[in-house]
Formats: sequence, structure tokens, C-alpha cells
Amino acid sequence: MSNRRTFAIISHPDAGKTTLTEKLLLQGGAIHLAGEVKARGQARRARSDWMKIEQQRGISVTSSVMTFQKDGIVFNLLDTPGHEDFSEDTYRTLTAVDSAIMVIDAAKGIEPQTRKLFEVCRLRSVPIITFVNKVDREGRSVFETLDEVADALALDVVPMSWPIGMGGIFQGVMNLATGKVSRPEGDSREFLGKVDDLSDMTVPDEVLEEIELAGVGYPEFDIEAYRNGDMTPVYFGSALKNFGVIDLIEAIAEFAPPPRPQSSNQGTIDPARTDVTGFIFKVQANMDPQHRDRIAFMRMVSGTFTRGMKLTPSGSGKPIAVHSPILFFAQDREIADTAEAGDIIGIPNHGTLRVGDTLSERNDVRFTGLPNFAPEILRRVQLKDPTKTKQLRKALDDLSEEGVIQVFYPEIGSQWIVGVVGQLQLDVLISRLEAEYKVAAGLEASPFDTARWLKGSAEALKSFADFNMANLAKDRDGDMVFMARSSWDVSYQQERNPELVFSATKER
Ligand code: GDP
Repeated sequence: MSNRRTFAIISHPDAGKTTLTEKLLLQGGAIHLAGEVKARGQARRARSDWMKIEQQRGISVTSSVMTFQKDGIVFNLLDTPGHEDFSEDTYRTLTAVDSAIMVIDAAKGIEPQTRKLFEVCRLRSVPIITFVNKVDREGRSVFETLDEVADALALDVVPMSWPIGMGGIFQGVMNLATGKVSRPEGDSREFLGKVDDLSDMTVPDEVLEEIELAGVGYPEFDIEAYRNGDMTPVYFGSALKNFGVIDLIEAIAEFAPPPRPQSSNQGTIDPARTDVTGFIFKVQANMDPQHRDRIAFMRMVSGTFTRGMKLTPSGSGKPIAVHSPILFFAQDREIADTAEAGDIIGIPNHGTLRVGDTLSERNDVRFTGLPNFAPEILRRVQLKDPTKTKQLRKALDDLSEEGVIQVFYPEIGSQWIVGVVGQLQLDVLISRLEAEYKVAAGLEASPFDTARWLKGSAEALKSFADFNMANLAKDRDGDMVFMARSSWDVSYQQERNPELVFSATKER
């Protein structure tokens, strides 16, 4: 069985994702000092000028991959940007993982972005381990938090650990299976390895009662239910003070699924298949601003990749030799010699690889289930210098390939429309248009509010088009899109045209 565990952390900003990431990497021996994740992030950001926005806002627009090993298990942690404005990148990263850790703040519970990301996980039945963070501070009652997760997300919850008091009366975190309590020590009140039996501690009666209730009030942990995405084991802890971190690593090692089969046009592709297949879930440009380099991130689905191997991208159909693939060990990027199902490799290229592409040795498979998501914000692009139309088109095509934006070319009129899922992507767009393509452009309100990909017979599409030309556009791939003024508009047209599918996602 595979020793790979490929996962992401989903959370609302400030819940503690960065801190937890550091601690996971520390446990995995991947970094030596806490704080290095952010420090390295800043150094990397300083190098790249289109990422100025990241610096100004102090956030990370781009996701990265961190690989570490512990006890024979290789963990691939895919970072998802934690800011409120998030892009399709975030969604797509979740298409490349087999499981996720959901971090929630003990005082705040489920917050909007956690819920959004959770919905994406649910769409793909990605199993979730819940980490309730910051129990070293005052928080809500444990039962309240558990109920909230159960009700808001319609999941069965199973507490695996229990905080012994919180805030000022915090005495540690108990493992419910063993009765052992991880204890705070020293001035910093961190967990440094001290463990006591609950029976040897002086604990307030109400905490003992809680623990007793916890023992009877929840179902047993059922690994199948968890792997189906129906049940979440819940761990309590403090990333800052190191409580619960080891439990999480052990939970991922023990419960989280190894690389899953992926659906394709040939049925599901099993990770045990011997020839190499994978898909691109993210493309990142300009790690080095001097070059038009891009790194395409490929999730390996099957086979063993070796350096120099020839793979054929489904997009271009022309084989490429992958001579300098990149593996992402947390300390530094390293050149990969081999990679297996579940691993991520970075493939440098000049725009031949696109998000959604399948890569395969035999050029026979096409993975499905890598959707584009209907944009939530649409804007008209206003070109300041009309002689630059060609450059603008090239730029919009490129940036939509990277997944920075989506682009829609209306059937009538010449004003192109861009769509994004988060406001921040618009800032990135304008800044990159100027910096990389020397195109000065502005954005103005679009008459449309949302977009739907249309599917149906050629006839049905044509008769719809005859009446609705002013609302039709083509996307980057030439597929037909219905531009709607409101979601009401979508429902209305859907009702009147039952032979057509109005899809909020598009699979490539
Ligand atoms: P992110 O936005 O989710 O990446 O959150 P960060 O990891 O940057 O944490 C946000 C803030 O919460 C920082 O000030 C952290 O020091 C703090 N924090 C993170 N984990 C804990 C915790 O377990 N206990 C306490 N008291 N603070 C924490």
C-alpha cells in the first residue's frame, strides 16, 4: 500500500493555518525553527515583482507544496491561500488532494471561508479531519463546537481528544482513547512531551462530567464513514503551544486515504497502474521575473515518474521530455529523480501546459472532474490604448490558462469580459497586464452578474442562440457560455430550456 498522504489545510484567515503548517513541518523534521515558513515566504515574495500585491496586502496569492516524511510516511501538504479573496487556485488545489484538515478557532467556530472550502471538499467527498485550535485561550464550550460542526456541515462528529479546561484554567489535552493528557510546561505553557494520566490529576468535576458525557454521546470512529466524507474525527489542540500536532500527524498517517483512483474518460484510473498519468491543477508564472517561465504543478495519479521521461499533455498532444522536474521538500525545492502516485511535481514550461491538462506516458487517458468554477465577479476590460488589442487578447488567453482569471468573448460587441471568484484576482490581473504585457487596462462594471456553461444538442444550442445572442460568449476554449444578468435569469432560462444544461462548472 502507498505510503503517500496528500492533503491540504482548509481554514478561515487567522484560525492558525500558518502556525499549524510550521508545527507539522517541524514534527516532520522538515524545518528546524518555527517561523521559517513565513520568513521563507517573505524572501520568495520579495524576489518576484508581480507579487507586489502580496507584499502590500501581506498575504499569499499563490499556493505551494510542502513535502515531509515521518515514520516511513511521505506527507504532501498542499497550501491553499488563506485570504478572504481567494481564487480558483484554491478550489483547484482541493482537486489534487486526497484529504483535508479543517482548522477552526475554538472561540469562533465555523467561519464563512471554512464553510466555502468545506463545500468544495464535499463536492468531491474529500475526507476531513477537524482540528479545533487555540484551546489555550478562552473558547466556546466543547459541546457547542462539536454541535456546530455537526449541524452546519451535516457531518457525524467524533471527538478524539478533549481539552482539560481552556484559557486560564487550561491543563492540557486528553487523548480519549488512552486517557493520557498532554500537559503544558514552563513559562511558555507549551507541550514539550510531558504526559500524565487523567486519574493522577486534580481536575474540576464539571470537566470530568464532560468527559464522561463525551464517552457516551458520540458514535465510535468509523474509518469507512470518515473516508466517505460522512464523519469527521475532531482533535482539540493549540498549534501555537504544540498541543495536538502529533495526534494530527498520526491521524493522517493512520486514517487518511492513500492516493485515490481518479475518474477519467476510461473509467477510474487506479494508482497501482504502472504507466505514468497525472493532471495539472495549477500553473504559476514568474517565479523568476526575468523569464517567462511557468511551473505547472502535476498531481501524479499512477506510475513511477523518472527524470527525463516523455509525457504527453492532452492539451497540445505533443510529447514533452521532463528533464528538470521539481519536488517540493519543505526546506528547498529539489530536483526530482522519481515521484509516485500522490506526489506533486513542478514542471517548468513556457506555456505549453495548462490547468486541467492530463499528462500521460501513453497519451490515452483524459482525467475528468477538474472543473472551472462559475465566476462570482464579472468585469468588462477597458483597453486604454486601442492599438494593443492583440497584446490584450494574448494576455487574457495566457492568464486564463494559468487560472488567474476566466475570459469570455461576447458574440456581439468587442468588449471582453473577465470573470474571477475573488476580488484580489482583479488586482493581480491589472498589475500583470501592465508589468508583463505592457498593456494599460481598466475594468468597468459588466452588465452580467454570472455565467453558465451551456450543454446540449447542436440544434438546441442553435435555437437558444438565435434568441439570446446578446447574452452569449465564448470562453478561452471556444465553448459556449450564457452570460446572465442575475441568478434569477439563469433559473428563468433553465426553466424555459429544459433541453439545455446550464452548468456552474466546466470540466476540461
Ligand atoms: P492563518 O491566517 O490561519 O495562517 O493564522 P496564523 O497561523 O497566522 O495565526 C493567526 C494568529 O493566531 C497568530 O497571531 C498566531 O500566533 C495565533 N495563533 C495560532 N495558533 C494559536 C493557538 O493555538 N493559540 C493561540 N493563543 N494563538 C494562536
